[in-house]
Amino acid sequence: MLSTMMPVPLTIDHMIERAYCLFARELIVSRRPDKTLMRTNYGDVLHRAQHLARACLAGGLRPGDRVATLMWNHQHHLEAYLGLPLGGLVIHTLNLRLFPDDVAYTAAHAEDRWLLVDDILLPVYERFKEQWPFEKVFVVPFGEAPSQHSGYDCYEALLQSADNAVPLPEKKEDDALGLCYTSGTTGRPKGVVYSHRSTMLHAMAMALPDYGRLERGAAITPVVPMFHANAWGLPYSGTLMGCRQVFPGPHLDAASLLDLFEAEQVTMAAGVPTIWMALLQALDAAQGQRWQLPPMRILVGGSAAPEGLIRGLDRHGLHIHHLWGMTETSPMATAAALSSQEHELPVDEQYKKRARQGIPAPFVALRLMDDHGQEVPWDDRAMGEIQVRGPWITGSYLHEGTNPDKFSADGWLRTGDIASCDATGSIRITDRTKDLIKSGGEWISSVALENLIMGHPAVAEAAVIAMPHPKWDERPLAVVVLKPGQTLHPEELLAFMRPHVASWWLPDEVVFANEVPKTSTGKFNKLALREQYCRNKET
Ligand code: AMP
Repeated sequence: MLSTMMPVPLTIDHMIERAYCLFARELIVSRRPDKTLMRTNYGDVLHRAQHLARACLAGGLRPGDRVATLMWNHQHHLEAYLGLPLGGLVIHTLNLRLFPDDVAYTAAHAEDRWLLVDDILLPVYERFKEQWPFEKVFVVPFGEAPSQHSGYDCYEALLQSADNAVPLPEKKEDDALGLCYTSGTTGRPKGVVYSHRSTMLHAMAMALPDYGRLERGAAITPVVPMFHANAWGLPYSGTLMGCRQVFPGPHLDAASLLDLFEAEQVTMAAGVPTIWMALLQALDAAQGQRWQLPPMRILVGGSAAPEGLIRGLDRHGLHIHHLWGMTETSPMATAAALSSQEHELPVDEQYKKRARQGIPAPFVALRLMDDHGQEVPWDDRAMGEIQVRGPWITGSYLHEGTNPDKFSADGWLRTGDIASCDATGSIRITDRTKDLIKSGGEWISSVALENLIMGHPAVAEAAVIAMPHPKWDERPLAVVVLKPGQTLHPEELLAFMRPHVASWWLPDEVVFANEVPKTSTGKFNKLALREQYCRNKET
């Protein structure tokens, strides 16, 4: 029997019409490189997004063509997020922090036709421009006075050329809308293509209270760059719900972010843990004297949110909400919201729960599989690889088959993350497969050790890696960054850790460093650390 429901496709058209009708006067704020603020509203951004769609089509692009962006977080990037898919085009957000070779590789692999680039990012583009011939490059005036950049086209002129008579194409919900590449710490980046449907459903799910809680009246800041996994879907979810969007531009240091949060009374912000660790240090140092922030909800993902960080930010009225996901999962797949019974637990246990990665979002199916292809029990001890399936989870990579390393025979995405699951269905990630430490045949979780070390009051950051060992195969080494003015002896740190972990988990070596190197998306770069410390050992 067929249903009587209307077959309305889930495409970006509805999101745009809705925001136009209902939220036209809601503010969009962007901070420029000189830290002045650009203020506009949805009405203006959506108007310009329509011009962008029509101008691209009039300029010779066809639905399905890829247009790359090399841009920071600001209103013109939001225009591209909305306008390109409105024209049936596919937005490919280039990761400006990748090596130039890799950026060029992704542009070539995606066969990007045009590029939209921030004026201040032209030097980044020029490092790889010889390696992929975009047909046209439009310079977006963001940091500098609008001027002609010789040899390039002007984004504002493109918008002005738009002809309202050009019809916008009808889209099917499975048509491609966007394209992101995985950050590829090993091997070449891989392309993940999002559809209108997957993006709309993900935007709805992010809006749910237990996940992103995007609500009308919220002022939201994606600190996560708009080139990282769709800025976690916030530009779409925010537009769907009519949130005020406050974009930080290129200044992502703690003081600049705090200034922005205070000035714009931001109520929700999202980013990787390293951002919030720096912010916590700045707030602690200011002792409540410098910034007057509203109560904020902080979405943290990309790496595990250490319990110490969750506790620390709570002291300042910033409530961390922990999510897990990956580029392949749009990216939100799980979140750690407390149930009514868990709200009654002693505070320490609540923190432990909040530091877990939580339960899957509606429509995301999740299982943990052991090496023999069996699901592991929900006893919080057995570990297995997280495998997921759902309407916003990729089923393959662009131009690649479904490699059995990445997809199970029965069609689940193999994430490469290892976790255990408690009786309530909440997962706790112990590691990436490649970061687990195998000592004498037993696994040690580098994430658990890092979280513990970062709970020490003198420690700002810590990463734990496996070092080759003649007897045990591998042993943990901890690289620790202290807070300014603090001192700590390795023995003191080990004494702090001893009550919490088995003695054979304790790192063989603790080294103090000035910083932990970061990846292009701001996570601890363990590959670089392994290369550095293993090489030091060999020499
Ligand atoms: P990316 O595609 O760059 O976003 O990286 C995805 C990977 O980041 C995942 O496979 C995890 O290894 C890691 N990740 C994301 N969120 C979390 C989290 N909340 N806790 C631990 N690891 C995470």
